[in-house]
Amino acid sequence: MHAKRQIILMLILLLIYPTLLTGCASEKVATRSDFVLDTVVTITLYGTDNSDLLTAPFEKIRELNDKFDAFSENSEIAQINAAAGKEKVTVSQETFDLIALGIEYGEKTQGALDITIGPLVTLWNIGEKRTGTVPSAEDIESARQKVDYRKVQLDKENRTVYLEEEGMALNLGAVAKGYIGDRVKEMLTEEGVTSAIINLGGNVVLLGGHTKRQPFQVGIENPLDTSSENIGVLSVRDCSIVTSGDYERYFTDASGKRYHHIIDPATGYPADTGLHQVTVIDDQSARADALSTACFVLGKDRAEALLKDLGVDAVFVTTDNQIIVTEGAADKFTFNSTAENAMYEVEQ
Ligand code: AMP
Ligand code: MG
Repeated sequence: MHAKRQIILMLILLLIYPTLLTGCASEKVATRSDFVLDTVVTITLYGTDNSDLLTAPFEKIRELNDKFDAFSENSEIAQINAAAGKEKVTVSQETFDLIALGIEYGEKTQGALDITIGPLVTLWNIGEKRTGTVPSAEDIESARQKVDYRKVQLDKENRTVYLEEEGMALNLGAVAKGYIGDRVKEMLTEEGVTSAIINLGGNVVLLGGHTKRQPFQVGIENPLDTSSENIGVLSVRDCSIVTSGDYERYFTDASGKRYHHIIDPATGYPADTGLHQVTVIDDQSARADALSTACFVLGKDRAEALLKDLGVDAVFVTTDNQIIVTEGAADKFTFNSTAENAMYEVEQ
């Protein structure tokens, strides 16, 4: 492994470790961490110490990443993007299904989630460097004109994907980890594993509970200071917990203003809707991932209305440091009253 990556891996492990508050000295555990999907992925199995079970899931993660990564030259997504406005591309079932899910949630969120966000992601180039410059308003607008999930043509029977205009580009960054987490959970279930935590750089997927009776305890990062204490803990089993936040990837401009990686397709700029963080709790990780990004773009009020319609729960942290928990999540969430600067309010 690359030395720089190794340091990043160690640092991120230190950050992730306290967020998964599980453990019992005598139990059997198998665990493995690796740098994949541009982040640290950790899979921990409980009730077994057979670490061979971890080989196939990591292979699957790499295989799917190779298909989904828009910036990897030979990926299926790169092929679709290169053929934009020219021809349709036949893809694997997995790529087709993930794009279809992205389009479905584009529709459900009225375009707050838009997987054709590629031209804006490339233009802003957020997350590559610590400091950066804001693109010109003209460039932002012309990239924004290329973003429209309604211009993706899917042919289910022949498994083809076609982007209607040249210059359009898919970017599955908002949904890929969730989808991959679901596939890993399926694989482990098929292998007979009954208790596991799959942590894809903070996208957490839970298989079962910590024990038959005990749920898992999953901490929610403090968006104001990720190295400090969690803002609270969710006691949950057999579900996925996915967070989107303005502190995860960003650059600062010369004046010190921050520009983060979640872009509002309606403006072309990083979403500025009064939220620092949204954590979505749902059975399906792909859906939780799509919704966490969309809710961040929608802002608290519109996001709450959407989640109510869909029957999905979430924890919001606003830019004025309020923590708001949807009704269905209230009994699962324990606020950490020592977390700095936070007030606690349960939304009914
Ligand atoms: P997440 O961390 O799941 O919220 O996803 C953020 C990533 O999704 C970004 O790094 C971009 O690659 C991509 N992205 C940013 N804004 C959007 C958006 N409005 N819709 C879809 N994908 C987005
Ligand atoms: Mg997401």
